[in-house]
Amino acid sequence: MSQQPKGWKEISIAGVCWKPATDYHTGDWRSFKPVRDPKKCTKCLLCHIVCPDAAIQWNKETQDIEFNYDFCKGCGICANECGAKAIVMVQEGGE
Ligand code: SF4
Ligand code: SF4
Repeated sequence: MSQQPKGWKEISIAGVCWKPATDYHTGDWRSFKPVRDPKKCTKCLLCHIVCPDAAIQWNKETQDIEFNYDFCKGCGICANECGAKAIVMVQEGGE
């Protein structure tokens, strides 16, 4: 009988999770959420480059960026680096 591997919430502190992040949604770690003002956004894609979770993607169909909130951990790097100040971090559930 094979044992079900543990998720990141079940392993001990300092334990190493052997599953890739694509196997589970890390977005539920988030307490703050990035929200973009499309009127301020210049579509420079810097946020796409700096996001450590690859949670900002270019959508070819809409010709615009989009956030994947399943994987965004709410670190705020995108908001910090956006030169146009188009991204603000808002408390989760308060947007
Ligand atoms: S860094 Fe700012 S201006 Fe550039 S694409 Fe991202 S949100 Fe838009
Ligand atoms: S808050 Fe962090 S993880 Fe989320 S989209 Fe911005 S840079 Fe990526």
